[in-house]
Amino acid sequence: MSPPAAPLSRAAMLLLGPPGRQRVRASQCLLALLVFVVFAGLQELEVMLGLIDAAQSHWLTACNLGGSLLFYAVVRSGLNLRHERDPALTFAQIAFALVSIAWSYAITGPARGAVLAIMVLILQFGMFALRPGQARALAWFGFLLIATVMAWKSRTDPERYPPQVECAHFMFAAIVAAAVSALSIRFGQLRRRLQEQKQDLAVALERIREMAAHDELTGLLNRRSMGEAIRRELERQRRQAGVGVPVNVSLVLVDIDHFKRINDGHGHPIGDLALQHFSQLAREELRGSTDVVARWGGEEFLLMLPDSTPEQARACVDRLRRRLQAVPLAVTEPPLAINFSAGVAACLAEEDIEQAIEQADQAMYRAKTDGRGRTELG
Ligand code: GH3
Ligand code: MG
Ligand code: MG
Repeated sequence: MSPPAAPLSRAAMLLLGPPGRQRVRASQCLLALLVFVVFAGLQELEVMLGLIDAAQSHWLTACNLGGSLLFYAVVRSGLNLRHERDPALTFAQIAFALVSIAWSYAITGPARGAVLAIMVLILQFGMFALRPGQARALAWFGFLLIATVMAWKSRTDPERYPPQVECAHFMFAAIVAAAVSALSIRFGQLRRRLQEQKQDLAVALERIREMAAHDELTGLLNRRSMGEAIRRELERQRRQAGVGVPVNVSLVLVDIDHFKRINDGHGHPIGDLALQHFSQLAREELRGSTDVVARWGGEEFLLMLPDSTPEQARACVDRLRRRLQAVPLAVTEPPLAINFSAGVAACLAEEDIEQAIEQADQAMYRAKTDGRGRTELG
C-alpha cells in the first residue's frame, strides 16, 4: 500500500492540481495574486500616509484581487486550454496588469513615480514570455494607457499632477516603450536562432546515429548494430513465447565467392558495385519487416531470419542465389554473375549468439571447401 500523501502535497494538489504544465500555470497565477496582495498592502500604507484616497484605493484593490482570482479560476478549471496559442494567458494577464498600473497611476498622486518603475518590470516579463510582436503591442498599449492618464490628470488635477512633471513622466514612458519594442525584436531573433540551432543539432545527431549503425558502402546494418538487432529479436521472442518455449532464429553467414578475382579483374570500384548489388538483392529477397541483412566485414554478410528453421533459412538463401544468377551486375561485358557460399545455424538464446555465428562460419567454410556456390547447415 502506498503511504498517505503528506498534508503539504495534498494542499498543493488541491490548490495547483496534478504535476504538469497546468500546475506551473496555476502557480504563476497564484504568484500574480500574491504580488497584488503585496500591492494592496503598499496602497493601504499610502492611504494611512494620506497619499491616496481610501475608497479609490479599495476599489482598485478589489479589481486587482478579483481579476487575478478570475485568472487563477480559469486556469485551475482548465478553461485556459481552449486558448491554444497562449494557454498560460500571459498576454491577457500582462494587459490586465497594465490597466491596473494606469489606474494606480491615476490615484497615487505624488508617489506615482514608483508606479512607472513597476510598469517597466511588467513589460520586461512580457519580453521573456511572449512573441516579439505581442511584447511590442503590450509596450505601446501600456504607453498609450499611461499617456492618456497623464494628459487627463494634468488637465483635471494640475495641482497634484503638474503638466511639467507629467511631461517628464511622459517622456520616460515613451523611452521605456521604445526600448521594450527594440529589445523584444532582439530577443525574438535570439530565440529564433536558438531554435534553429536546436533543430540543426537534432538533425546532426540523427545523422550521426544513422552513420554509427550502418555500413557506408552498402547502407546495411554494420556489425555492431547487427549484434544488437539479434539480441533484441531473441529478447522479443522470449517475451512472447513465455518460459520454457525455445526461440527460433536462424543466422546465415554469407561469403561472396572469388571476390578477389572481381577486384583484380575489373578493379576495386566494380568490386564495390558488386557488394552494393548483392546488398540490394538480398534486401529485396528477404522478408522486409522481420529479416535483417548486415555487412559483417569485407565481402561477408550476416543474415538474421526470425521464426525460420535452418531448412527454411537455407531455402531462402538459395532463392537469393538464384536471383543473383538471374540478375547479374550489368556493368561489365559479359555481366558479372555473383555467387556465394553460406552457412546456416540456429540461435536459441542470447548467450548462444557467438556460438551460433561460429557454427554458421564453420558451415560456410565447409561450403567453400565442398566447391563453393552452396549452403550448408551447421
Ligand atoms: P573465397 O571464395 O575463398 O571467399 O575467395 P575471395 O576472393 O572471395 O576471398 P578473399 O578473402 O581472398 O578476398 C576477399 C577480398 O575482398 C579481399 C579484399 O580486398 C576485398 N574487399 C574487402 N572489402 C572490400 C570492399 O569494401 N570493396 C572491395 N572492392 N573489395 C573489398
Ligand atoms: Mg571472406
Ligand atoms: Mg569470399
